[in-house]
Amino acid sequence: MKIGIIGAGQLGRMLALSGYPLGQEFLFLDPSPDAPGGHVGPILHGDFDDAAKLKELASKVDLITFDVENVPVDAIREIAKTTPFLPQPDALGTSQDRLAEKTLFRSLKIPTPEFHAVDSLADLENAVAKVGLPGILKTRRLGYDGRGQFRLRSPADVEAAWAALGSVPLIYEAFVNFGREVSVIGVRSTRGEIRIYPLSANTHEDGILRYSLAPYRNAGLQKQAETYLKRVFKRFDYAGILTIEFFVTKGRLIANEMAPRVHNSGHWTIEGAATSQFENHVRAILGLPLGSTAAIGHSGMVNFIGTMPQLEAVLSIPGAHFHGYGKAPRPNRKIGHCTVTAASPAARDKAVKRVLKTTA
Ligand code: AMP
Repeated sequence: MKIGIIGAGQLGRMLALSGYPLGQEFLFLDPSPDAPGGHVGPILHGDFDDAAKLKELASKVDLITFDVENVPVDAIREIAKTTPFLPQPDALGTSQDRLAEKTLFRSLKIPTPEFHAVDSLADLENAVAKVGLPGILKTRRLGYDGRGQFRLRSPADVEAAWAALGSVPLIYEAFVNFGREVSVIGVRSTRGEIRIYPLSANTHEDGILRYSLAPYRNAGLQKQAETYLKRVFKRFDYAGILTIEFFVTKGRLIANEMAPRVHNSGHWTIEGAATSQFENHVRAILGLPLGSTAAIGHSGMVNFIGTMPQLEAVLSIPGAHFHGYGKAPRPNRKIGHCTVTAASPAARDKAVKRVLKTTA
């Protein structure tokens, strides 16, 4: 089969790298001439909202998936009429809008921070009165890695927050005083088979994932996460990898957001699980049997953000696996990661500390 991937970032590149051994071919669509996917497969150059290019992609492949979320869903619905598009366009559309996403969670009885839509300064004042302070004002669309967010601590922040973000539709949500952040990644195939990875504990800095530790073993939270994930699978008759990010507070999961795709907090699965999230995504959309999601030992994944550490320094750390994406370094840009695998959590934590030092 030839699989089209909209977006040729590092996620697309890792998808293709996992799919070639299964005998699959890939074709990317991406506007950037030096996108990471281009190092491993052919790219059609075009914008994600270029209807003609999307059509061309659809005509050249058997199946389409994506590695970016900001793809116009109306254009996708058009090509999905002729070429299977997975995960489903409805799931993608919902995840693109924080209000739709949180409304979905609410309808599925998946706990979320209290939230209100904000389209005017008066809405924001009302939302702050109802939800309280502190809170976070976020753009409904196109926000990621902490971009498009404004934290409000006192009533005096309302006007500044509105001035900073008020030109687009917004959502105001309660600030969750979380103990930790975790994510669950699961996969459902077109045949309805489901497998779920153990939780990953995630640490963010400035809204960007810095490192993940997995498996994060907590039977109660794992069960909650699996229940919630299955509700979303069912709602969309979903196929592919699905990620939900949660805050943990008082032994409960509060959903922050979902991603209908392979996820940065699952990169550890390449070396740290029996089957990687990338391979399982490919298997799922092709209707192939899914692979085991069991963890092998204890893994830690550290992102390289803005600058690349020295290869030699990272490789001298026992159990370290280096992944460079071939991207030009820029502030706040994810340009690679390292996964360490170890036999015990203590050895893993020690190795993660050493990797973090190489990036300091
Ligand atoms: P997001 O872009 O929504 O994933 O937010 C990026 C990061 O900001 C999250 O991983 C959290 O660390 C923090 N954050 C976002 N929303 C909230 C919230 N409602 N309460 C507390 N922290 C938040």
